[in-house]
Amino acid sequence: MNGAPPLGRIRVVLCQPSHPGNIGAAARAMKTMGLGRLYLVKPKSFPDPEAQARASGAGDLLEGAVVCASLAEALADTVFVAGMSARRRDLSAPFCWAREGAQRLLDNAAQGEVALVFGNESAGLSNEELALCHLAVTILANPDYSSLNLGAAVQIMCYELRLAVLVAGPLAVAEAMPAPGAEVEALLAHLERAALASGFLDPSQPKRLMLRLRRLFARSRLEREEVSILRGLLTSFEKQKFRRKT
Ligand code: SAH
Repeated sequence: MNGAPPLGRIRVVLCQPSHPGNIGAAARAMKTMGLGRLYLVKPKSFPDPEAQARASGAGDLLEGAVVCASLAEALADTVFVAGMSARRRDLSAPFCWAREGAQRLLDNAAQGEVALVFGNESAGLSNEELALCHLAVTILANPDYSSLNLGAAVQIMCYELRLAVLVAGPLAVAEAMPAPGAEVEALLAHLERAALASGFLDPSQPKRLMLRLRRLFARSRLEREEVSILRGLLTSFEKQKFRRKT
């Protein structure tokens, strides 16, 4: 089943992992459950013999791992992102438990590439990283000690995904085409430029405007066509301003 849809459309993204052993453990956890695509965002040390040792027979996943400079880069071509978080945040995405999260990932894999994102061992996912996620997923655990080892968290989610594939019917037929991450990022960059140029956004006091907009877009699951309408509107407003000046 390794690499075959729908599991073949699910990538596991580790954000800034500090311990190479955990990268190896994650690769092994993935391969035992039939997942094959590992992305690493700014790993502290990779490649690393410790990762190789802990991966055991899953060294091929390490060789094929994609190393990225930012989480946005790792998500550029994805249409749905679930972020794993042991804690609730003030500005986080809608939340669900692991089993439902696995089902939601599979449902969205019918429309394109999807990602399952894990945070750094000591800091977890930052608010900025969670703002790139459409859903926050939590593994039910002891409320007094709920933080699992990174490799263990990857194992549980990959198991849930495999279980969900077993019980799932055929992939749903996609209706509208969701916008991939890179297009939403380009819209946000355009909005930020326009907000600065118009004076709406004060660069000395940006507050959390862009974070809030990112979260709004993640919640509303923009379609490709909606992104082009918004980009077109912005361009038209920008031209209007130019015309008035001349
Ligand atoms: N100390 C961090 C947790 C780091 S564990 C914190 O309190 O946020 C490393 C990663 O494993 C987390 O960022 C998360 O992605 C995942 N993880 C660990 N325990 C989890 C849980 N109970 N539910 C969901 N994800 C979990």
